[in-house]
Amino acid sequence: MKHIDIKDIFSNPFYIGKTVTVCGWVRTSRDSKNISFLEINDGTTFRHLQIVIEKEKLSGYDEAMKLGTSVRIAGTCCESPVNGVEINAGFIEVLGACPGDYPLQKKRHTLEYLRTMPHLRVRTNTFNALLRVRSRLAAAIHEYFQSRGYVYVNTPIITGSDCEGAGEMFRVTTQDYDVTGLTREEYYAGDFFGRKAGLSVSGQLEGEVAAMAMGKIYTFGPSFRAENSNTPRHLAEFWHVEPEVAFAELPDIIEIAEDMIKHIISAVLEACPDEIAFFEKHFEEGLRDKLRSIVSHDFAVVEYTEAIELLQKADRQFNYPCDWGADLQTEHERYITEEVFKKPVFVINYPKDIKSFYMKQNPDGKTVAATDLLVPGVGEIIGCSEREADLDKLLEAMKARGMNLDDYEDYIELRKFGSVPHSGFGLGFERILMYVTGISNIRDVTLYPRTVGGIR
Ligand code: ATP
Ligand code: MN
Repeated sequence: MKHIDIKDIFSNPFYIGKTVTVCGWVRTSRDSKNISFLEINDGTTFRHLQIVIEKEKLSGYDEAMKLGTSVRIAGTCCESPVNGVEINAGFIEVLGACPGDYPLQKKRHTLEYLRTMPHLRVRTNTFNALLRVRSRLAAAIHEYFQSRGYVYVNTPIITGSDCEGAGEMFRVTTQDYDVTGLTREEYYAGDFFGRKAGLSVSGQLEGEVAAMAMGKIYTFGPSFRAENSNTPRHLAEFWHVEPEVAFAELPDIIEIAEDMIKHIISAVLEACPDEIAFFEKHFEEGLRDKLRSIVSHDFAVVEYTEAIELLQKADRQFNYPCDWGADLQTEHERYITEEVFKKPVFVINYPKDIKSFYMKQNPDGKTVAATDLLVPGVGEIIGCSEREADLDKLLEAMKARGMNLDDYEDYIELRKFGSVPHSGFGLGFERILMYVTGISNIRDVTLYPRTVGGIR
C-alpha cells in the first residue's frame, strides 16, 4: 500500500502543496458546521497528523470519525500555523472499522487500567512515546559499543549452571508432570539435556568466555529470574546489557559505565525531544533538565563503608538495619542517591559476603571490587565488578560458598589458561528506561510484562 510516513510529512517540506497518501489510526476526531477534523497517527512519530475534511467536498466518512478506526487518506499537504502541516482530505478509505466498545475512548486512562489490555495500550500516547524511546535507547547502546570496537556476542538462554548466584532460575524441562518415584538424579538424568537446565539469569559467565578471546564484548538479550516479590522494579523476564572487558580493572569499568549511560541519554535527548517533553509533562517534572544534567556532570563515587556511615548518621528511621556487612535495601539506596548525592552514584567495595563468588577480592580481605550504580527515583540500575582472575582465590571463594565446582569447569579454566584482569557490568534495560522516562513501574516500560502470578 503506497503511502508516506507521517514522520516524513512533518519533516520534509517537499510535500507541501503536493497530493499525498497517508495511513494510520484515528486518534481524535472533531466535528464543526462545515468542517470535520481527524488526527491520525501511524507510529512513525509521536505527533498526530491533522486531517481537514471540508463537508461539501467529501461525504460518507462517518465511520472514520470513530476513534481507533484505521484509515487511508489522500489529500493535499498544506502548511498550517498551528500544526506545522495538515492534510486537506480528498479521499478517505476506512481500512478497518472500530466500533464504540473500543476501550480507548477517554483521553487518559490510568497505567494500572491499561495493563489489563496490553494489546491495546500500545496505541496510547504513553506507549507511542515509550516504544520509540525504547527503540532509540537500544540502538544507542549498540552504537556505543560498536563504535568502540566491542564485539556483540549472543550468550545462551538455556543454561546448565545451576546457581549463577544472581537470582532464582526458571527450569527448562520436557518431563511430564507425573514422573514420580525417582531420585533427584534419576529425574534430571531422564530430562531433555540429561541434567538440570534453566533459563539464564545473566550472560556474564559465557560473556567472560568470549572476552577472554575477543577482549571487549557485550551482550544485549533477555535474562530470566523467578523473582517471587512483587515490586515496581522487578520483572521475571528483562533485557540485560552486559559488557565484559579484558584488561580492565574496577576504575576502568566504572568509567565505561558512566560514559555509556551519558552517551545513550544524549542520544535519546537528541532523537526524541517530543517524547521527552511528553514524559516531562505527564510523568516527571524537570525530566529534561535532569537528563541534561546527567550528561554534563560527573557521577558520584562512594565507598560502601562510607555509605553505611552516612546512613547511620541520617536523621531518619529506616525499616531495615544498616550495619556494616548488611546489604543495602532499596530505602538505603534511594536515600544515598536521592538525598545525599542527588545524582547517580557508584557505591564501591562491598563486603564480600553479600556479593557473588566471581568478584575480585580486595587486599583488605573483607571487601570485593564491586559496585552498584544507583540513580534517583529507581535505585540500582547497574551491578558491576572486577572479576576474580586468580585461580586459587576463585576456588577458595567458590568452596566457601559450598558451590559444586564441576558445574563451573569452563569458567574455572579461564583462570588456568592465560588469565587476565577483567571487569564487566549488567545494566537492566527496563530500569534505565524507567529512569529516562520517569515511568515508575517497570510493568509499564515493556510490551508484555512477565511477573509472578500472571502471564498473558
Ligand atoms: P536488585 O538488587 O535490584 O534485585 P540484582 O542485584 O539482583 O538487582 P544484578 O544481578 O546485579 O541484579 O543484575 C544487574 C542488573 O540487572 C541490575 O542492576 C538491574 O538493573 C537489572 N535487573 C536485575 N534483576 C532484574 C529484574 N528482576 N527485573 C528487571 N531488571 C533487573
Ligand atoms: Mn546487583
